Amino acid sequence: MFHQDATHLSKMDSEIFGLIDNERKRQEEGLELIASENYASPAVMAAQGSLLTNKYAEGYPQKRYYGGCEFVDEVEELARTRLKKLFNAEYANVQPHSGAQANMAAYFAVLKPGDKVMGMSLNEGGHLTHGSPVNFSGQMYNVRSYCLDPVTERIDYNQMEDMVKHERPRLIVAGASAYPRIIDFMTMKEIANKVGAILMVDMAHIAGLVATGLHPSPVGIADIVTSTTHKTLRGPRGGIIIASPAGEWEKKLNSSVFPGVQGGPLEHVIAAKAVAFKEALDPSFKEYQKQVLANAQMMSKTLMAEGIQLASQGTDNHLMLVKTDSVNMSGKEAQAILETVAITCNKNMVPGDKRSPFVTSGIRLGTPAITTRGFKENHVKDITLWIAKALKNPKDATLLKDIKNKVVNLCKEFPVYPIR
Ligand SMILES: *Cc1c(COP(=O)(O)O)cnc(C)c1O
Repeated sequence: MFHQDATHLSKMDSEIFGLIDNERKRQEEGLELIASENYASPAVMAAQGSLLTNKYAEGYPQKRYYGGCEFVDEVEELARTRLKKLFNAEYANVQPHSGAQANMAAYFAVLKPGDKVMGMSLNEGGHLTHGSPVNFSGQMYNVRSYCLDPVTERIDYNQMEDMVKHERPRLIVAGASAYPRIIDFMTMKEIANKVGAILMVDMAHIAGLVATGLHPSPVGIADIVTSTTHKTLRGPRGGIIIASPAGEWEKKLNSSVFPGVQGGPLEHVIAAKAVAFKEALDPSFKEYQKQVLANAQMMSKTLMAEGIQLASQGTDNHLMLVKTDSVNMSGKEAQAILETVAITCNKNMVPGDKRSPFVTSGIRLGTPAITTRGFKENHVKDITLWIAKALKNPKDATLLKDIKNKVVNLCKEFPVYPIR
């Protein structure tokens, strides 16, 4: 099935085996449009499911607190070397367990509690860890948020500059979870320089595009770059920190990951990260990312041609924000309607949203997962027309059933993990 040892699991624990198998079917039989999700390769999953999970390796290669680390040292070195090559970076840390942990470690390396931080507000596309009051970042630091221009619905760099000069933050965070446009890291670095602020770029969503040169790279511009490894980068669930030049932050970043915020590294996940970086260094990965962008263009243009509005009128990257008021429903309702036709997405705040985060006025759609699955523009056009039809006719049970059948049949043609 998904791993050679699955037969052991099925014998030992039929409940968990059954649930994983249900999830496998869900992933196979539905369309995954959650912009932050992807399908890791069987090679990545084999490494992640390996016996490396047994090994304690607190510390860093050649500087461990435990014996028997000779092979995991090589694993971690390989992961670091490949990561540096992928992003042309001098410093790399592959230990963060997740994107949130990477951000926490980066903050701990450069900030003291109470320091002033400026990030993009959660309501306009930022991430929880960029200063949301319900997250440690909003609780530990003095947070100010920069905003979008209400007309263009793009980052307003002039307003940002005024705010930075007035507030003089210690750290500026760039990056987002729901922003469909290119981010101008160079301009943000210039703004940061005006007040001596540190620039951190969290490229969690766009790392795969950055790795292949399809989004400008923050590496070499920002002081610190963090990312997840499981979104467009298509690796195992995890985080990374890179910097270039390594400069003054190397020691502080290392010690704030371990022992600062984590204990033993997940060497099985680090091995899987190394595999994913190898995949990302292959020329075929650039072709994949190009297709992600082509599919996003097809999806956004088709939606707009159907009279469905998008935040900032389109996208430059792998995701788009659909304004569901243009089909007379909330984001929550739109998500539920698409669920009935086996299409998974998430409700999302849109710029200027008047509804609560639990209801919202939008959905976020992304093309990384369906592109991994093998879909090209023609499939995306069909899918998008089905989405438009479903959203415009939410009460037509016959139509919804027909769309669901079409979705399921298309998915059958494109298995994610073909049975060997
Ligand atoms: C997804 C995301 C994260 C957090 O990643 P986790 O692995 O879920 O902790 C951080 N920053 C941004 C911008 C993200 O989109």
